[in-house]
Amino acid sequence: MALSPAPETQTGKLVIRNIGLLLSGALEAPILDADTVVAEAGRITAVGRQADCDISEARVSIDAHGCALTPGLIDSHVHPVFGDWTPRQSQLGWIDSCLHGGVTTMVSAGEVHLPGRPRDIVGLKALAITAQRAFTNFRPGGVKLLAGAPVIEQGMVESDFAELAAAGVTLLGEVGLGSVKAGYQAQQMVAWARRHGIQSTIHTGGPSVPGSGYIDADTVLEADADIIGHINGGHTALPLSQIRCLCEGCARAIEIVHNGNELAGLSALRFARELGQLQRVILGTDSPAGSGVQPLGILRMIALLSSLGEMPAEILFCCATGNTARLRKLDCGIIAPGRAADFVLMDRAQHSSGADLLDSVAKGDLPGIGMVVIDGVVRAGRSRNTPPAERVPELLG
Ligand SMILES: [Zn+2]
Repeated sequence: MALSPAPETQTGKLVIRNIGLLLSGALEAPILDADTVVAEAGRITAVGRQADCDISEARVSIDAHGCALTPGLIDSHVHPVFGDWTPRQSQLGWIDSCLHGGVTTMVSAGEVHLPGRPRDIVGLKALAITAQRAFTNFRPGGVKLLAGAPVIEQGMVESDFAELAAAGVTLLGEVGLGSVKAGYQAQQMVAWARRHGIQSTIHTGGPSVPGSGYIDADTVLEADADIIGHINGGHTALPLSQIRCLCEGCARAIEIVHNGNELAGLSALRFARELGQLQRVILGTDSPAGSGVQPLGILRMIALLSSLGEMPAEILFCCATGNTARLRKLDCGIIAPGRAADFVLMDRAQHSSGADLLDSVAKGDLPGIGMVVIDGVVRAGRSRNTPPAERVPELLG
């Protein structure tokens, strides 16, 4: 298990060439006419044809051997606790396993599985600040985990949100997992959070486990959180009519998760497409959870929604990268100069019936990952979790 005690950034120049397919992460132009990416100090500095890029004096050079390159995948909905440990399924190394599924950034929807999690206001603030600090200082496998997402409770006042924001907290845990379940109460606290620069997510649908709550579409709309968290339930989904209301009734992010109801997820994607609002669709796993940890969860969502949703695979890669980055204000998720040098190199899995990588995903197969790069640092070679790819990139030194 590759554990990094502190965030690392590549120092010299990184050059990746012979890229066979460059997926941008941006819906406006999902496929770029380029075969080379250059990065320095953990940031992309050039994207284009090799002849047009300065690839001299590279400290690290990678021959992609025709593999596809995408931005690192972003899991918009995870429930971390501390380090690379989850008590939910008594597992170690789950984040590192997700790295091998192409995930380079995760966003916490609340550190809710901590045994003995404090529910008093001082305690929940202390936990959020501690989690934010801990995951900033320690990245399992190099994965960037935005954590410290307090679960709001009744009795909180605006100064609590100001205090959290001043301490570096940027997210709320899923609204509805604590004692704040009424729409009007949630709306007040979400507004306070927003005023202080804290982004919010709301639990949608039936209770996830004994003790969590039921949140219907009216409550979600009234609360007006930034992200409609697991619009396809976690796992129990709202009726499809209510999911349509959520898509039509606001402009907030439509988050579809692996550990939700697949039919509801496909329906949400269809509603977003009919509305011409695919830019609102983002993907998560909602893991660890009762249904476990899915190291390939984001890839599985891309393949599921592309194949059964009859949507080109490159669009779904945008939902898992650039859309999430834009809606969550992250500096990654797009292949463009200035962005974080977070990449996944992948190819069609061996023996897939698809003609190429995108066709194989559109037919429901998972790609094979050959390399994962975070902040310009190669964090994983050939994935231990995906099916083997036909081609794999080569680290030239
Ligand atoms: Zn939830």
